[in-house]
Amino acid sequence: MTFKDLGLAEPILKALQDEGYTNPTPIQEQAIPILLQGKDLLGVAQTGTGKTAAFGIPILHHLYEGISLRQHSRKVKALVVTPTRELAIQIGESFTAYGKHTGLRNTVIFGGVKQSKQVNALKAGVDILVATPGRLLDLMNQGFISFRDLDFVVLDEADQMLDMGFIHDIKKIIAKLPPKRQSLFFSATMPKSIVELSRKMLGEFEQVTIKPEQATAEKVEQGIYFVSKANKPKLLVHLLEQRPNDSVLVFSRTKHGANKIVKKLEQADIRSAAIHGNKSQAARQKALGAFKEGKLKVLVATDIAARGIDVEDLALVVNYDLPNVSETYVHRIGRTGRANASGIALSFCMAEERPYLRDIEKLIKQQVPRLGEHPFMDEASEQETAVRRPSQKPRNNQSRNNSGSGNANRNKNRTRNTNRNSGGGNSRRRDSDS
Ligand code: AMP
Repeated sequence: MTFKDLGLAEPILKALQDEGYTNPTPIQEQAIPILLQGKDLLGVAQTGTGKTAAFGIPILHHLYEGISLRQHSRKVKALVVTPTRELAIQIGESFTAYGKHTGLRNTVIFGGVKQSKQVNALKAGVDILVATPGRLLDLMNQGFISFRDLDFVVLDEADQMLDMGFIHDIKKIIAKLPPKRQSLFFSATMPKSIVELSRKMLGEFEQVTIKPEQATAEKVEQGIYFVSKANKPKLLVHLLEQRPNDSVLVFSRTKHGANKIVKKLEQADIRSAAIHGNKSQAARQKALGAFKEGKLKVLVATDIAARGIDVEDLALVVNYDLPNVSETYVHRIGRTGRANASGIALSFCMAEERPYLRDIEKLIKQQVPRLGEHPFMDEASEQETAVRRPSQKPRNNQSRNNSGSGNANRNKNRTRNTNRNSGGGNSRRRDSDS
């Protein structure tokens, strides 16, 4: 199927061609026809699946088709609510790209910065508003935003918004929405609280489910190193030194941990930057911008800050800490291998993290391939590796030199064959510092 088959307006088809998109991704193929018919939609999917275009394209199509009726009225007609600043900016950029030949205008509002510029943009008039919940509610309460002309509402990454404590804000926003509207609700996972919230927002709806493993796990070569806490920095330096030209995203479970990793890399003369909630918006944008442009090769991020980071050519994701929420692992490895590219995700596991590894493997219904030897093995790691991979020869120089990707390659077929049926499990423990 091509985008042309979907019956989209010409300026949108042209923009998609400019973007180099030829075929719709599975979520786009399924969701766009439903949305073009004006139906409500529940999308169970995460970033990396092409879901921004799945909701952005039909909204732009409807708005473009209605332009002559409304004489470019520049009133907010579509609202997208999303949890983080990074994600909001990225969605805004997507609307700008897909809508560049339509004459429609979007703006993005988020907290952590002065409101004056955002208020000015709103006063100048916009068709599409992308917002994080706190700032949206704030500007609504100050009377800068009216929902009188609103036709389309998207709640994006709903599970993440609940995790971040936005539930009350979201309920207040939903309460203010006009009853006659098309509603779209996206969430990567569907725990009970999210199902309840979706029922509040959606009328009669259709559902599209894109399993995360279809989007990510199958395409991403995964591997795990058993390594002590003390040796994690050395192993990271070792891996990065072997890939000086690759863009690498390193995940830390905590903000403090992310800062520590940056310091350790600095000591090894590897330039990196951390992004997390304690960094100013300007610092986060600067680091992300440099990373996207390829000027900064290593970015260290917490999960919340990394949500929605969309970087082409991201060669490697390193899970410096294993996440204590299993679904987060799938989100993290989905940063690489986006939009049909293949990627590599390597994880470090110390003794205390083995229960997390068990939870992850239960969720993805496959064993993450063990990557045998590395130069910083201690006795416990060696034992663990030996127990898990009895067939592997000790001190294999080749695997040491390849630092994982060779092993990951060797394990690729096994990975692909074993993860077809994965889905659903839900083992959550809370992060307190992200
Ligand atoms: P998303 O899930 O919306 O964050 O999108 C993930 C990535 O896929 C982004 O880099 C998009 O630009 C890209 N993308 C989305 N749809 C397509 C498509 N149909 N063809 C190629 N790339 C796409």
